[in-house]
Amino acid sequence: MPRTGEKPGKGIYFCKNCGVKITLDDTTDTMPPCPSCNGTEFNDKEEKMATTGEKPGKGTYKCTKCSQTVTLDDTTDTLPPCPKCKNTEFTKI
Ligand SMILES: [Zn+2]
Ligand SMILES: [Zn+2]
Repeated sequence: MPRTGEKPGKGIYFCKNCGVKITLDDTTDTMPPCPSCNGTEFNDKEEKMATTGEKPGKGTYKCTKCSQTVTLDDTTDTLPPCPKCKNTEFTKI
């Protein structure tokens, strides 16, 4: 797992704590602290990501842009766009 201060290389990383997305464009970029919660641990996998229109199952999902949460009560529920900012990417929390 990449941490703040490391140079994990190009890619998209997600704050372990709040799910904020960090993009590093260069192999020499240093991972910053999370701009949202100051967290220093990140995931480099998108396996917990859910996108609008999918049926990711019961659970609470957090908007990757504004941190608004959406709760799905049923496995057949479709994930809506973020009610606040219309973003279509969420992380499961
Ligand atoms: Zn964070
Ligand atoms: Zn949002």
